[in-house]
Amino acid sequence: MKQLAEILGGYIEKNRERLFALSQQIWEYAEVGFQEYRSAEALKDFLKEEGFSIESGVAGIPTAFVAKYGQGKPAIGFLGEYDALYDLSQEPGNPERKYFKDQNAGHGCGHNELGVGSLAAAVAVKDYMKEQGLAGTVYYFGCPAEEDGSGKMFMARAGVFDELDGAFTWHPEEKNAVDGNSWLACIGVLYRYKGRATHAAGQPHLGRSALDACELMNVGVNYLREHMIQDARVHYAYRDAGGGAPNVVQDHAAVYYFIRAPKVAQAIELRERVDNIARGAALMTETQLEIVTTDGLCDFVPNHALSELLQQGLEAVGAPNFTDEDRALAAQFQKGFDPAEIEAQIKWYGEKYGEETAREIAKSPLMDKVILPLQFNPIVSPGSTDVGDVSYVCPTAQLFTCTFAIGTAGHSWQLTAMSGCNIGHEGMLTAGKAMACAAVKAMQNPDVLQKAREEYVKTTGGSYICPVPADVAPMLDGVK
Ligand SMILES: [Zn+2]
Repeated sequence: MKQLAEILGGYIEKNRERLFALSQQIWEYAEVGFQEYRSAEALKDFLKEEGFSIESGVAGIPTAFVAKYGQGKPAIGFLGEYDALYDLSQEPGNPERKYFKDQNAGHGCGHNELGVGSLAAAVAVKDYMKEQGLAGTVYYFGCPAEEDGSGKMFMARAGVFDELDGAFTWHPEEKNAVDGNSWLACIGVLYRYKGRATHAAGQPHLGRSALDACELMNVGVNYLREHMIQDARVHYAYRDAGGGAPNVVQDHAAVYYFIRAPKVAQAIELRERVDNIARGAALMTETQLEIVTTDGLCDFVPNHALSELLQQGLEAVGAPNFTDEDRALAAQFQKGFDPAEIEAQIKWYGEKYGEETAREIAKSPLMDKVILPLQFNPIVSPGSTDVGDVSYVCPTAQLFTCTFAIGTAGHSWQLTAMSGCNIGHEGMLTAGKAMACAAVKAMQNPDVLQKAREEYVKTTGGSYICPVPADVAPMLDGVK
């Protein structure tokens, strides 16, 4: 793997400046889910220049695309994301809170790097195929709206990933590790009630309150909690509380639910129970109910065979090569964090990976020396990702590399700031190199791909389970 890492690392280093510029460009665009037009174009232009053929607007999503190089088997794909988050604009590299220009959205989850890191891997594998005579197909999937919209679910449902023998992706993190955790399946459902308005004091008997319906539904769901599986998670937010006047019976109200469970089949089942409670609330209040499925995603099933390749790739490449300035800047960011939080984080590493590892991590504000060992955790992580849907279509493995200071909160303006400077970009190149190594290794070893496929069939049943009904379309204009 060491030799492979040198060759592929060389291909990526050759493009270092262009890759940094592309990531910085997407960082500046900061486009939110399904609106990533300029970001997708920038990625496509780069891939076109590198000789990839492009199919745009896949799965009925204008900002989704597939880039392809080569032909036939084996077929390996990289997943790229590029959506930003509202309210997280921040100047690049600035540890003091300051919005970037007049922008509202920012890359507070580092998806600018995510898209470009995966692109770096795809281009490096292409270079390897071209120069070393490796046969097969390398794909790059432009996957929009990871944060809110489940782009990959719609792409999986449309069969976009069907040709793949394996998929690799990564996510910006504070650590260098291969993801051995599974993640919860999740279904988003909007429950919208319609009642009858009236004077709340004058003719209350004529009113039918949509707000009452929402409240009764929530009470019902809160009783359901005692009778659902431990690892399931159900949470809600009011999208419409019926207006601000107490003396008007609310004739409209809506509550938005996320229904999560360790397995997609469990989430589908639990969602039906929540639907029934919603119907009960409509019956009690004599209101009309509309149930709108907004999106959904499968649980993530890490493929052990491909994850092991990814670990070997990461170990061969090594931790990101940060500079002293990077470390100094990361330390400045850390000054703004709660020291107890950082301490707790280091302690967590100690419990999971041993005291020596924790001590090593504590030496630097960036994880620039340590590569965490691969651990497959039997406990499901309490978050969700639409990479899960790809893991139900083909063997899939996911990597993390250090792109921000230890102790940085997810979805934060500090994370936006570090995603727009050298710290994030350096980690991004490491991810690209490690994924490229794993992919080439997989393409060279049909036995590993066979093993990965058998494992995939065993762990998922071998066919995609869509978490949402067939008529649900992507909410390109957001959930309303
Ligand atoms: Zn993310």
